[in-house]
Amino acid sequence: MKNTRITLAQRPQGMIKTTDFELVKEEVSDPKVGEVLVRQVFMSLDPAMRAWMDDDRDSYIPPVEIGETMRSLGVGVIEQSKHDGFPVGTRVSGFFGWTEYSLSDGSDLTVLPDGVPLEHFIGVLGLPGLTAYHGLMEALGAPEAGNTVLISGAAGAVGSLVGQIAKAEGMRVIGVTGSDEKRRWLLDELGFDAVVNYKTENIAEKVREYAPNGIDFHFENVGGEILKVALDNINENGKIVLCGLISTYNNVGETTGPDLIRVIKKRVTIKGFVIIDQMHRFNEIFEKLGGYLEKGQLKYRLDIVEGLEQAPAAINKLFDGSNQGKLVIRL
Ligand code: NDP
Repeated sequence: MKNTRITLAQRPQGMIKTTDFELVKEEVSDPKVGEVLVRQVFMSLDPAMRAWMDDDRDSYIPPVEIGETMRSLGVGVIEQSKHDGFPVGTRVSGFFGWTEYSLSDGSDLTVLPDGVPLEHFIGVLGLPGLTAYHGLMEALGAPEAGNTVLISGAAGAVGSLVGQIAKAEGMRVIGVTGSDEKRRWLLDELGFDAVVNYKTENIAEKVREYAPNGIDFHFENVGGEILKVALDNINENGKIVLCGLISTYNNVGETTGPDLIRVIKKRVTIKGFVIIDQMHRFNEIFEKLGGYLEKGQLKYRLDIVEGLEQAPAAINKLFDGSNQGKLVIRL
């Protein structure tokens, strides 16, 4: 049986290029005793991958080495097993990488519960769901019902779930996104209270208009101008969670930043987090997300791209904003 996988051929400079990767075709090896062969079904493409491609040895995770299979989280099915704990057909998640098949001794696999569509575990009950729940409700302590919450990257996999959880918890939600189609989805289908299109509107003016009494909680996915606007409008004892700064990920060289002195003046707490630290709490958070899902309070959409070979080009949808929902490869 043949396997296709994609390795990192060189470190991108600025935007990711397809020539930064190499396609490898090889025979699939049979599992040894104590091993399983996993067939990946859905593979997540995440903004963080851009950082994993850089030669940064001082981060929360080592860089992907040149020649190594590109790192990614995915869900799949055990196709062959020589491991008593993992029968054939078991649905699992893990860091399989950009590959169709992978061998595992089981130590890096999470068994997924039955009765839930597999693709849920790449989106609403996967990394984006965990990130949204932890970042809004736990990282700094949850905002209170009635609080005004501002979310950048609001129509994305993480941001759209943050907004819906906030609505389910009784907060007022303002989103920032980059297209009118995404704005309509947030307003009409997800129940956001107000949405700013940062590409066609003045963010500062619109946020002042939609939040005349200021922002109590800001969930940052983007960085740059929106973070400046959030800081300019933050209330005393407000909270800002730095989840991501995607607008900076393709930067080369030095850039100017926001005026962080306001964090001190307003007694604001900013906390960064890495969701991988919370992976051992998967089941606990999964139950909380399941509660919202059962009540019909969470909608999500997947942007499915067909075929592993498309991954090197498709990942740029995250950076030009053309992904509509959680970006995922169907293998
Ligand atoms: P999304 O589905 O949100 O896709 C990325 C979106 O970001 C794009 O669709 C685009 O939306 C927006 N975007 C891209 N470039 C820019 C830019 N220059 N300025 C403004 N907006 C931009 O991805 P995810 O939900 O997976 O990730 C969202 C954020 O969460 C990222 O920053 C990511 O790194 C972070 N994250 C952090 C984790 C953690 O552990 N801390 C875990 C998971 C994600 P639009 O059309 O609105 O511009």
